[in-house]
Amino acid sequence: MIGIDLGTTNSLVSVFQNGTPRILPNEMGETMTPSAIAIASDGQILVGRAAKDRLVVDPGAGKTQFKRDMGSDAKYRFGGREWSPAECSALILRELKRVAELHVDGEVTSAVITVPAYFRDEQRNATLDAARIAGLSVDRVVNEPTAAALAFGYQSPEAETTVLVFDLGGGTFDATLLEIFDGVIEVKASGGISHLGGEDYTDAFCRWICEKHKWTPPKSEANRWRQHVEMTKRRLSSKSVATVSLGSKEVEVSYDEFRAATQSLSERILPVVRRCLSDARTDFGSLDDILLVGGATRSRNVYDDLATASGRVPNRKLDPDHAIALGA
Ligand code: AMP
Repeated sequence: MIGIDLGTTNSLVSVFQNGTPRILPNEMGETMTPSAIAIASDGQILVGRAAKDRLVVDPGAGKTQFKRDMGSDAKYRFGGREWSPAECSALILRELKRVAELHVDGEVTSAVITVPAYFRDEQRNATLDAARIAGLSVDRVVNEPTAAALAFGYQSPEAETTVLVFDLGGGTFDATLLEIFDGVIEVKASGGISHLGGEDYTDAFCRWICEKHKWTPPKSEANRWRQHVEMTKRRLSSKSVATVSLGSKEVEVSYDEFRAATQSLSERILPVVRRCLSDARTDFGSLDDILLVGGATRSRNVYDDLATASGRVPNRKLDPDHAIALGA
């Protein structure tokens, strides 16, 4: 049996062996499989990194972000046929099952799959459909923040424990308040922003750099340049200045500039957190822990804002990309 974090931008697979969970990397050594599918020019179905690369060259050849449409009647057209969100998800699940089978002896037949706490029945059922298509029987569907809490070690704390799960991924933000007692993890309140994540920070930074330097990348280079800015953004989480190349020219950008360029995004996050706390009739001071989940919580500005507002040190004990899959 495997654990699956079926994410909007990336998905991961884990296995529980010798008493501990372990994330399983693919043949390329990558633990994160982009949640992307595409059709190659020879008609072959591409999944993950290969699909994402193909979509850079031909955006109409496939689909990403189908998790957003799970449980709706959305249909996508590519590769000469229509695809439902569940069919797209099924290809990701099948790929993760295949990756897991590289690591364990024999066939993998069942899985625990995580879904957002706010997923309605239709969305959960669409996830079950996807698993069925992929040939996996689902032992349990677990809420993502619940899985994160388990991974952080909150299976059965001695006293009633209240934790905030702060999950900022590539494209979505979710805040969830959990109460944990006697082996039961209860979602007390949740909120989020369906279109806000690390990718938006990168886009805002790209726009800011282009405006400031009155420069735009040539169309054929636009994706590569964005990837370069993405790396610069990550570097600015630990350094105060970094360089960005604009064609033949190199310019310096600072962390403070990055922070200012993305301020309007950051300002939307804390009100959602405060709302979640007040819905659960609690406040920062009553929390036992704040768990950081999702790759974009590595951003220094996101971390600092949360630490300042809450007056405490958010828990970054686990790799924020791995927490949900480990919990699953
Ligand atoms: P996820 O899909 O949860 O792994 O989130 C991926 C997002 O995390 C991407 O948008 C990345 O830009 C962002 N990210 C990863 N590492 C860093 C970092 N060091 N600083 C800022 N953002 C990061």
